[in-house]
Amino acid sequence: MKIFRQAITTIWSPLTAEQQSLANSVQCDRCLVVNPICRAKSFGEHGLEGVVNQMKQHDVVILGGGPAGSTAATLLALLGLDVVVVEKEYFPRFHIGESLLPATVNIFERLGVHDPIREAFIRKPGGKWLYGEKAVPGDFEKYDSQASFKANPYSYLVERSTFDKILIDRSIDAGADVRLGTEVSDIITENGRVVGVHCQSDKGQKYELRARLVIDATGLRSVIPSKLRLRKLTEPHRMGIYAQYAARPTRDDVKAGWFIGQMFYDGWTWLLLLPEDRFSVGTVLTVDRFKKSRMTPTQLLEKMVDENPLLNEGMTADRKRISDVMVTGNMGNSSESLAGNGWVAVGDAAYFIDPCYSSGVHLAMKSAEMVADLIAAQSKECLINKAVFDGYQKHMRQHEKTVQNMVDAFYIASRSTSAQKLVTSCQGGYFSRKFVTFVGGDFHKNSAFVARFRFYSRFANFLFGNDANRAPENSPSYLHDAGNLSASDVAAAEIEFMPEKISA
Ligand SMILES: Cc1cc2nc3c(=O)[nH]c(=O)nc-3n(C[C@H](O)[C@H](O)[C@H](O)COP(=O)(O)OP(=O)(O)OC[C@H]3O[C@@H](n4cnc5c(N)ncnc54)[C@H](O)[C@@H]3O)c2cc1C
Repeated sequence: MKIFRQAITTIWSPLTAEQQSLANSVQCDRCLVVNPICRAKSFGEHGLEGVVNQMKQHDVVILGGGPAGSTAATLLALLGLDVVVVEKEYFPRFHIGESLLPATVNIFERLGVHDPIREAFIRKPGGKWLYGEKAVPGDFEKYDSQASFKANPYSYLVERSTFDKILIDRSIDAGADVRLGTEVSDIITENGRVVGVHCQSDKGQKYELRARLVIDATGLRSVIPSKLRLRKLTEPHRMGIYAQYAARPTRDDVKAGWFIGQMFYDGWTWLLLLPEDRFSVGTVLTVDRFKKSRMTPTQLLEKMVDENPLLNEGMTADRKRISDVMVTGNMGNSSESLAGNGWVAVGDAAYFIDPCYSSGVHLAMKSAEMVADLIAAQSKECLINKAVFDGYQKHMRQHEKTVQNMVDAFYIASRSTSAQKLVTSCQGGYFSRKFVTFVGGDFHKNSAFVARFRFYSRFANFLFGNDANRAPENSPSYLHDAGNLSASDVAAAEIEFMPEKISA
């Protein structure tokens, strides 16, 4: 019987002679590396050079350890699943996106990270958007009866380096195998299914990881949608330019932890306080506008800090830039599909929307939470297919459309003084409560309100529209001055995603 079985295996085995020899050889007890000469006791002992072939199938491999990746990792590891996170950086590392929403606090509670976040960061009571002299405040205390954050009508202004480390440390505590300093170089597809990824550690180790499901949480890199050519860029092309400054706050609302944005024609600036008298300062504008300024990103930001009322007057005059000026290039993008057989995209890897409502981190963590809950409902042995995520895709598209509609209304108001009058005069009552619930993070619940709001903004602009570009406060000189931008600087700013770095 044994001889018969061996003969059958030899004739029908799908393995090549080389694979057969690997399969017969020693197997590392921890990482299941199959290698004829492997005598390693742990993954770290495998030596630095050469290709390591990992044959084990994990439950889930997560690409990227930002807020989306770490949220999925923690929730799945807590369920006892075998989860590997592959993250190219070491934490703490700089990341933009410091203003958070109250609806996210519910997820902090679920992950068990609210206490360290509360201790480390500044409490944020709301966000305020300035149109010239007038303001549209979103005070989180003034929610409507449907808000999900009634128990915690506040959020935080966070330093992302520390915040992301708190989240990834929680994933490790929960039992996820987190591999920092390891980059995903390619995906592995078999019969139209994503079955794993190729990785390379910063020490030169190359190996592959296979899983029942691969979650793409690589942010704007959006590895799987990019490889599958599903990623499309959305118009108009906008970019973010930002830096950190050391100064003391002068405005009471900034001191109290409010996020403040100030509109100009087709763009805006932001100012928010970080721990130890530091500020996150930045602007979002169209690439076209940036080119017309004929300045480098550094020249433009520094001129804004000198001349923009919010930035100039919100910080004390002894302010000092303490980081490089950083640029995120073409900011609008979306994947045509958010899932396929063997993969699903969460956070910015799914889509990225203009950050004027600070929606990014919430959508990242919320999408990861939804995906984790769907995986939890699947049988432990099965491969995970696209159909599992049908409801997720529908829900995420609703979020995307609602936030995008509100962003459109925001920019219509930046271009039209009549729309500005509409939004600044609709204070109190129904409008304010709905608006607060939206900017608190309950996006899809407010889709009907947002669609109406966008319609009214367009209608006001159509009836009474006058070009806000003519008003000096909306058309600041720093966007028109001739600088000394070279052709190479323009090209650099057009790079889709530029590396972010921060100096001491
Ligand atoms: C100018 C600007 C201002 C913003 N302001 C706000 C704000 O105030 N509030 C807010 O909520 N959001 C804001 N955002 C958005 C916010 O930054 C993102 O939405 C959020 O970080 C998304 O989280 P994520 O986990 O999806 O992606 P990320 O936080 O980008 O994490 C992705 C991770 O994947 C890793 N990675 C990438 N490629 C690979 C690879 N090949 N292999 C391994 N690892 C990889 C990266 O190193 C990174 O750690 C802003 C964005 C911009 C551009």
